[in-house]
Amino acid sequence: MPHTHIERVAVIGAGFAGLCMAIRLRRAGIHDFTVFEKADDVGGVWRDNTYPGAGCDVPSVLYSYSFAQHGRWSRSFPLQREILAYLRRCVEDHEIGDHIRYGTEIVAAEWDEGESAWRLRTADGGEHAARVLVTGVGQLNRPRYPAVPGVGKFGGVAFHSAEWRHDHDLTGKRVAVIGTGPSAVQFVPEVAKQAAQLYVFQRSANWVVPKPDHEHGSLALTLLDKVAPIRLLKRGMTYLRGETVIYWAIKGGRLAKLAEWAARKHLRTQIADPVLRAKLTPDFPIGCKRILISDDWYPALARENVEVVTSPVSRIIKTGVDTADGVHRGVDTLIYGTGFLATEFLKPIEVVGKDGTRLHEVWKDGAAAYLGITVPAFPNMYMLYGPGTNLGHNSIIYMIESQAEYVLRKVLAGGVHEVSQKSFDAHQELLGTTVADSAFSAGCDSWYKNADGKVTTNWALRTLTYRSMTRKA
Ligand code: NAP
Repeated sequence: MPHTHIERVAVIGAGFAGLCMAIRLRRAGIHDFTVFEKADDVGGVWRDNTYPGAGCDVPSVLYSYSFAQHGRWSRSFPLQREILAYLRRCVEDHEIGDHIRYGTEIVAAEWDEGESAWRLRTADGGEHAARVLVTGVGQLNRPRYPAVPGVGKFGGVAFHSAEWRHDHDLTGKRVAVIGTGPSAVQFVPEVAKQAAQLYVFQRSANWVVPKPDHEHGSLALTLLDKVAPIRLLKRGMTYLRGETVIYWAIKGGRLAKLAEWAARKHLRTQIADPVLRAKLTPDFPIGCKRILISDDWYPALARENVEVVTSPVSRIIKTGVDTADGVHRGVDTLIYGTGFLATEFLKPIEVVGKDGTRLHEVWKDGAAAYLGITVPAFPNMYMLYGPGTNLGHNSIIYMIESQAEYVLRKVLAGGVHEVSQKSFDAHQELLGTTVADSAFSAGCDSWYKNADGKVTTNWALRTLTYRSMTRKA
């Protein structure tokens, strides 16, 4: 690569993870780096997911970087537009804007042994090179459509929740929503208010617990913003609640039973109709899929203009949705709340490591990495929010910060770093046994599992344990 300047670090993605890495690099005095972002704005999932009602189910006090804490969230659970505004502000406050190359999609990365550098290729044929490659492409960035015949054949307006058609007014429309996951739980109550008729196609009923959401009054805002010890105390307590109560609830045992009882009570309180209640009662242990937090989901489903359809979707045709019981429901709008290709880590980037080793070939039985960060034969390549690092009980930002610190240490150490096969194998063994012992492996299908049913996305221990492991590694 004679004509290409070799940068110290290349980061892919300008979401929470990529921006965290960029800020940590800059604060460590490293200026020779670029963040490649395929879109024209920062924010990742918080830029893409603009559906009505979009927000985060992690309490707002916890939902900012530890080094750039935000105290002016309007509510106890943050809204999407506030999170995006926060991330944009981080770019300005930490002066990393000049490092971000927008509209630049990295499609291939290859390790050049002779140069000890990663060669990167962009979608428009551009070439770049860097000593260290850091990916921050997330787990939930590529929409998934249901595996039923007829997707794409619908004659009305159809879109995925992550690609919301704001130009399409839903007032008075007949709408079908496929999916009842965390995204649908947020947008369905908003759609139900506008649509003349809404059909919600549910494959699995989820566990839903009450959402202790409230607006922050001016006193609370002032205290959280200006009185750091109060914010820190609230942040710390919220974090510890995740590490204890919520952690135990997804571990099974007595607390899980208590959480299931609370969710059932929520359902009983909000749904009077026993037939609908039966439809909405989950048939798997709590924590197996992400626990949903909502006060307006059940009331939306109980509305006169809403029908929860539990017969499986058999096909989509030009005029609407057919179900296995032979019923056709004609609609003019179809919304896919069917999630993301979460287990296809790093796709569609073609990553080639030492001796021509292809990452997706190594991962043919499931993505895996040491600490979710690095893989043997892929020197100086690090993933943020990689395999085995998603959570069911606490904030991902904490995991991302742990990972960015690990990467920063390697960058500062210089040279070429490659994890040993022994460390990698030991980590996979730990993941295997701890995940097997968690609710993630209980009897349900979820996006945590790949096509073979193996949980490849999640971390089943405490985030504190993860941080301590990344510090010592
Ligand atoms: P998801 O959790 O993967 O849910 C997809 C939904 O589509 C599920 O209900 C699934 O049913 C259903 N589905 C898929 N194929 C179907 C078919 N053929 N027929 C009927 N239903 C079908 O996706 P998501 O709701 O977009 O959420 C994904 C992740 O994004 C979340 O777990 C979370 O990590 C993140 N998220 C976070 C927040 C937040 O507040 N922090 C908000 C939204 C999303 P099954 O359950 O039966 O598979």
